[in-house]
Amino acid sequence: MNAHFVIDPPAIPSLPVAGETRRFAVNRIYCVGRNYADHAREMGHDPDREPPFFFMKPANSIVTDGRDMAYPNLSNDVHHEIEMVVAIGKGGANISADTALDHVYGYGVGLDMTRRDLQGEAKKMGRPWDTGKAFDQSAPCAAITPVAQCGHPNEGSIKLLVNGEVRQEGNLNQLIWNVPDTIAYLSTLFTLEPGDLIYSGTPAGVGPVKKGDVLEGSVDGLATLKTQIV
Ligand code: MN
Repeated sequence: MNAHFVIDPPAIPSLPVAGETRRFAVNRIYCVGRNYADHAREMGHDPDREPPFFFMKPANSIVTDGRDMAYPNLSNDVHHEIEMVVAIGKGGANISADTALDHVYGYGVGLDMTRRDLQGEAKKMGRPWDTGKAFDQSAPCAAITPVAQCGHPNEGSIKLLVNGEVRQEGNLNQLIWNVPDTIAYLSTLFTLEPGDLIYSGTPAGVGPVKKGDVLEGSVDGLATLKTQIV
């Protein structure tokens, strides 16, 4: 019996760290919506008229260490969204864009998996997106590459292969809100804490996955992501 808790406390979700045996403990997961102009357009929006916005996933939706992702219930239209993930090492509120990068521990490659059909219904009815975005295993993520190894990537390829074929390809220099601006703005809404992750948005080319698909994500200079849908 645990002396302090009436139930066993939940495990701390974590990510591997490239070149390290210790892991990165995951606190909260923030996601930026429509942060590449070509993806905003493919979803039927005008990127010049809409500032990015944020939604969240639970920390325990992480899938990592090359594990499989289970195709979720109650959807026939689960989409991939390849994204660069910013791993916050030092917290703060009202962080300036000038100093924002001092708060970053490292960067990863993630998938913002989406039950597009449920998200579409929620949008239509003015309801929250949680069932579309924040389901079990909705956040596959690669190992975090520390800034000491990769610097602060602000240009270079971001790409997703499905069964070896390119499905999404963009460049980090196409981000509407770059990493410093995203951290600065997000930290006015929420006090950031060590362990927070920020999924920074997806380029064009989102589309459905099916059981058996192998997804391989990459961002220049970062540890790669691989997961199979089962
Ligand atoms: Mn996304």
